[in-house]
Amino acid sequence: MERTPILSGGSSYGTVNPGYIPTAAAGPAMSAAPIPHTHGPSAPPSDMFDTVPGYEGTVSGGGDGYLPPPMPTVPMPAPESRPAHPDWHIPSITEETAREAFIMFASNKCCYSTGPARNGVITNMAAYNTYRYRLETFTESRSTEWSHEPYKGQPVDAYQQPAPGPWDIAAQPPSFFSEHTQQIRVPYTSSVKGCHACLGMGRMPCKDCAGAGNKVCWVCNGSGYRHSDDRCSHCNGRGRENCSRCSGQGSRLCDTCRGQRQLLVFINLKIKWTNNQDSYVVEQSSGLRVENLSKVTGKELFRDAQYLVYPLSGFPDPAVARASEQLIREHQGKYSLTSRILQQRQTIELIPITKVDYMWKGKSHVFFVYGNEFQVNADDYPATCCCSVM
Ligand SMILES: [Zn+2]
Ligand SMILES: [Zn+2]
Ligand SMILES: [Zn+2]
Repeated sequence: MERTPILSGGSSYGTVNPGYIPTAAAGPAMSAAPIPHTHGPSAPPSDMFDTVPGYEGTVSGGGDGYLPPPMPTVPMPAPESRPAHPDWHIPSITEETAREAFIMFASNKCCYSTGPARNGVITNMAAYNTYRYRLETFTESRSTEWSHEPYKGQPVDAYQQPAPGPWDIAAQPPSFFSEHTQQIRVPYTSSVKGCHACLGMGRMPCKDCAGAGNKVCWVCNGSGYRHSDDRCSHCNGRGRENCSRCSGQGSRLCDTCRGQRQLLVFINLKIKWTNNQDSYVVEQSSGLRVENLSKVTGKELFRDAQYLVYPLSGFPDPAVARASEQLIREHQGKYSLTSRILQQRQTIELIPITKVDYMWKGKSHVFFVYGNEFQVNADDYPATCCCSVM
């Protein structure tokens, strides 16, 4: 889906990811079937888990840390080429477009009169177009946890071979820049243990009736009678009723092993793909607050997607070049510690901003039209209540 950068005429400046093998070439993932998540009612004792080389820190329920990825096999290459200077054509809107957007703005506010928007006299229009730089870093992070599920004859493979390292297990990444999670059972870690929750009985005493199978009738409170000598119809005068939770059996299937008495215990690898985004908008002096710009799009001047992108040092606006350098350094420093960077993308948008001065009833006012959407901001609109106008 990535296009050639608009500005650089096909010269790309990044490099292919040495640590990332496209899935088609990587062969089938080992035991990559998604597995259901199982939560027992109580934490299993730690001696239930074997020691698996390479997975020593793994705990039940997962820790909070991600596993550091292996070091990239090749160092960061130096940039080979820089983008050519594009034609930074500054678009502007016509007075007609500005007025249409302004009228639309006023009509959409239920209490505003459209009088000033329709009949105000435009005295000046000035462009305060600005750039937005955005960096996205698409990462894969991995963590492990001990997990278990009822044992029903699943393959048991612990110690048949050394378990592959957490970063050696092949996974199917989603398309770049889309977030996703996957769980994979780590091969050669599955073993069978007695269920810790029911101590291998397969059933647990019912909590509602304390194992009795029946309990005090809630209608007659155990007396067997209602209103002095009326026999309780709910319990037929027994004073007790069958426990509905356990159907009168006094015990229930163990939630942890689902009555199987044994558990398959294994290490679960959790993989998370995240798109980490940051953007920077170059300051402009129009008076329009920068927060307004987060809701609009601009004209995309540049797009570049690589394994690791290089700072846009050749960009004409030095603030964009600085932001690019800083964000790239931050992202590569921050995300390579706890995740593997699979791809980065940087874009530059030119966001059109037009400041319009107009006169209404002898006073001057201002509104702004900005973004591809022709969004309008008019904080000093002179007729914010219908009754204020004729
Ligand atoms: Zn009763
Ligand atoms: Zn019960
Ligand atoms: Zn059990």
